[in-house]
Amino acid sequence: MIGGDVSDQVDIFNILENRIFHEAGHDHGKCRAGALSRAEEVCKARGVRLTPIRKRVLELVWRSHKPVGAYDILEWLRDDLHKAQPPTVYRALEFLREHGLIHRIESLNAFVGCDAAGSSHAGQFLICRCCGRAAELHDTRIVRAVGAAAHAAGFTIETPTIELTGLCSDCAGTGECSHD
Ligand SMILES: [Zn+2]
Ligand SMILES: [Zn+2]
Ligand SMILES: [Zn+2]
Repeated sequence: MIGGDVSDQVDIFNILENRIFHEAGHDHGKCRAGALSRAEEVCKARGVRLTPIRKRVLELVWRSHKPVGAYDILEWLRDDLHKAQPPTVYRALEFLREHGLIHRIESLNAFVGCDAAGSSHAGQFLICRCCGRAAELHDTRIVRAVGAAAHAAGFTIETPTIELTGLCSDCAGTGECSHD
């Protein structure tokens, strides 16, 4: 699915709602529940199964808006009903990534849930080095500009995700890194 239009809509939505980084104390259960039901829809539309372990791993990636590493997930699963061996967790993460339900943040070797799952897009991530949260932008102008520049250099892009590190407005404003 080519999702140029969808990405444009998501971009506008984010800017209008000013919710690229969620507010402190927001109802994160709602974010997570929304992500899980979108995942069910995406899997159904693609004819693939969101097995209990895949669902559980997705739920753990959505524990917050901070990217999480595979080791964190394994640790959290230790006392879980869906106790899983590392290869199972890696396969579940790969499945979720392949179907656009999560993104891999290369610079952190970690994963974060996608809030526009089901649309084909290359995200740009704003990663706060203070509170650790990552927010996803879907700016098609950036994708086009980078694509054109790479093409002019004869370069073939394999991973189009862009990762930017800095401070979110909460951390820049308070000088504290206590955001959940
Ligand atoms: Zn949230
Ligand atoms: Zn995304
Ligand atoms: Zn921050």
